[in-house]
Amino acid sequence: MNTKTPPAQPHGHAEFVKALQHETISCPIGGCGGPLDVTDLSQVKDRVKTFSLRCPHCGWEGQLRGQETLTPPWDDASLLLMADEHLMHQQPICPFDDTPVVFTSLPNPRRRARYRLSCYYCGRQTDMDWPPAEARR
Ligand SMILES: [Zn+2]
Ligand SMILES: [Zn+2]
Repeated sequence: MNTKTPPAQPHGHAEFVKALQHETISCPIGGCGGPLDVTDLSQVKDRVKTFSLRCPHCGWEGQLRGQETLTPPWDDASLLLMADEHLMHQQPICPFDDTPVVFTSLPNPRRRARYRLSCYYCGRQTDMDWPPAEARR
């Protein structure tokens, strides 16, 4: 596990995933535990998301940030697995960090659907024709 987590970042990957999925995160201060206000500070072009956290009850503030790791890229098998899960209406996850992968549909000038797959924790990203050739059969 990552032992270099700075103390200023008491929240880890589990909380990052909650923020990404708009789930409630509890205040880390003992005796408080209230739900935190979460703000997505990321720009559209950011590959790794940053969230600011604030407790409306005790005033605690913190931040959640992904750890950019772009190599090795997703291989074809992982991409197909993620595409399959998306087709099955399941939540695909990044095989490197178990973060839910976000599918964004892209403008499709050739009347073909395209998706961008993004992991906002490690920053890996790829575009894919849709449906992927191998899934059409
Ligand atoms: Zn609090
Ligand atoms: Zn990832």
